[in-house]
Amino acid sequence: MHYSPFVNDLCRQLTLEEKIGMLHGKGIFRTEGVTRLGIPSFVMSDGPMGVRQEFPDNSWVPLGHSDDFVTYFPSNMALAATWNKTLSHEFGCALGAESRGRGKDVILAPGINILRTPLCGRNFEYMSEDPYLISKLVVPFIQGIQAFDVAACVKHFALNNQEHRRLDVNVHVDERALEEIYFPGFKAAIVEGKSLTIMGAYNRFQGDFCCENHYLLTEVLRNRWNFEGIVISDWGAVHSTTKAFNSGLDIEMSVSMDFANYYFADGLYSKVKKGEVSEADIDKKILHILSTMEKLHMFDETRIKGCYNTPEHQQTTLKIAEEAIVLLKNEHSILPLKTNQIQSIAVIGENADIQHSKGGGSAEIKALYEITPLAGIKMALGGTKKITYAKGYTSDPKATIHDANFLREEALKIANAHDLILFVGGLSHQFDTEGSDKADINLPFYQDLLIKELHRVNPNIVSVHISGSPVNITSILEYSQGVLQTWYNGMEGGRALANILFGITTPSGKLPMTFAKNLEDYSSHSIGEYPGSDDVHYDESIYVGYRHFDTHKIEPLFPFGFGLSYTQFSYENLQIFEDKPSKQIRVQVDITNIGPFQGAEVVQLYIRDYISKLPRPYKELKGFEKTFLLPGERKTIEFVLTKQDFSYFNDKLKQWVFEPGNFMFLIGSSSADTRVSCDVEIIDL
Ligand code: BGC
Repeated sequence: MHYSPFVNDLCRQLTLEEKIGMLHGKGIFRTEGVTRLGIPSFVMSDGPMGVRQEFPDNSWVPLGHSDDFVTYFPSNMALAATWNKTLSHEFGCALGAESRGRGKDVILAPGINILRTPLCGRNFEYMSEDPYLISKLVVPFIQGIQAFDVAACVKHFALNNQEHRRLDVNVHVDERALEEIYFPGFKAAIVEGKSLTIMGAYNRFQGDFCCENHYLLTEVLRNRWNFEGIVISDWGAVHSTTKAFNSGLDIEMSVSMDFANYYFADGLYSKVKKGEVSEADIDKKILHILSTMEKLHMFDETRIKGCYNTPEHQQTTLKIAEEAIVLLKNEHSILPLKTNQIQSIAVIGENADIQHSKGGGSAEIKALYEITPLAGIKMALGGTKKITYAKGYTSDPKATIHDANFLREEALKIANAHDLILFVGGLSHQFDTEGSDKADINLPFYQDLLIKELHRVNPNIVSVHISGSPVNITSILEYSQGVLQTWYNGMEGGRALANILFGITTPSGKLPMTFAKNLEDYSSHSIGEYPGSDDVHYDESIYVGYRHFDTHKIEPLFPFGFGLSYTQFSYENLQIFEDKPSKQIRVQVDITNIGPFQGAEVVQLYIRDYISKLPRPYKELKGFEKTFLLPGERKTIEFVLTKQDFSYFNDKLKQWVFEPGNFMFLIGSSSADTRVSCDVEIIDL
């Protein structure tokens, strides 16, 4: 690795004490600087949904100032539901600008662990069950953040797929699943996105904690992916000095205030003094840090000026929120709502009136504002309709049966007296949260019963389901004419929802994961390998998400990639060209908006390999493009594929292999809705 003379020189001037200060937390979100040499302290902050509020160096009680209210962005899962790479970049830019505006050097985002089980409490902070979708969204996201001289910190490397026993669970995965499912997102983040930092996870992998895992941090990250940035531990994820030091970890962060007792503090100092750790190895880590600081322009006057709470950032959150909403059902085209035919709406459900920004764990946000669904609807209708709100159910753990019954009775009464019921239910950060998993995928607080009873008194129901992960919403589907799936959708979430409900915007979100009918339909559950105990064995291997449902012909409630629109799209003229000189396959298809509304379609390309030496999933996503079309408008969408897109990892040969033969190209509107397809023999690439 080549470092600038400036960085090499700085490193040479540092004393051992000063170097050690740069390798561990000296406040809960910063390392120590070296004032005499002009090296600032390295300042970090959560997280994926915006910049977290300020904490003092030595306490987890927030300072409570008035200057750290910020833009509250939609969750990473919401971003994934947009399937929009351009928007991912815009999100990254806005988050980078806000982070810099708040004086941060590192933003602890994005979260990209694979959704292996719907129960994982942090799914909402992650993106998808599919590594291709993650890879394509994470790169522009990171590039956006880093365009503002702030380092992204992609997390949590690796295999944090459950929160249950996250601090010590020992994950076992075969090499093929690592290469095909669990690594691609991180690899893309590092190799293409050039993420300047990465966070080591809490859990163990094959016996060793991730933050002292030589295989993960050195063999894979440094040697194979040529990572030159900083490996930061999750907060409290380090368990040793020498082992963690030698594994490739650079900075130890933790949750306690005894900073001198961190493994990379006094303990490390004495190991160097005793000759058990070499100062030359310390210097390697210091150079990672100094060169990253240099890339962030922390030593010169050209560092970009950030900004937070701008109208532009709020506009970005609105766009993401709108594009994230997924239309799941639209019987008799009940949506968009025809306001001229509706005089009164009963808005029912606690989620209509909850602000979610304050929950979820480290992703919590002190939002400048948060428009709830109820507020969004009222703002849109501007007093022209009668709107009555009733909670209908409560998440309050202290609520008695008496209260719950009262809420239900009240909701039924108003349901009867209004033209339309808008039910807004689902989960909250009581369920979708860091630190614990959900017990099941059921709708909590008797929402099943409530919607059934509401339907008895008034069958005109449109439902909005909010969650950060798949839920069994069978009852909502059964008793509603229209159903929208939405997420922790940021400060503009309520306005975005109203825009979709009233047809200002046509829904274009697609599910970034499979919604199953039963928990046992997910492979981790069907094989009994969730949550494990001390160990969890990912014996389902590469058959995660739709790869499992497809291959084993399990009918989901909603397939991966599913999402309806108010308009319709036709798919025609599938053409496949082999471009020999550039060793590429070009796939073209014409998409036409044949419906009455302007809208956007996510055109999805899946590839099926007919015959291979090792079994492969039925099909895999290898391209997607979101295209915006006016009524009647037609566009040609092109995908460019290379050898890698037809290859799989052969763990016997320990390499990616391309096997010539027949491949099927399937293009459609979801993983289950193929509109055009054809077989092509590919001999050489
Ligand atoms: C979380 C990280 C977070 C860190 C700092 C940890 O508990 O796992 O995602 O960035 O805390 O708040």
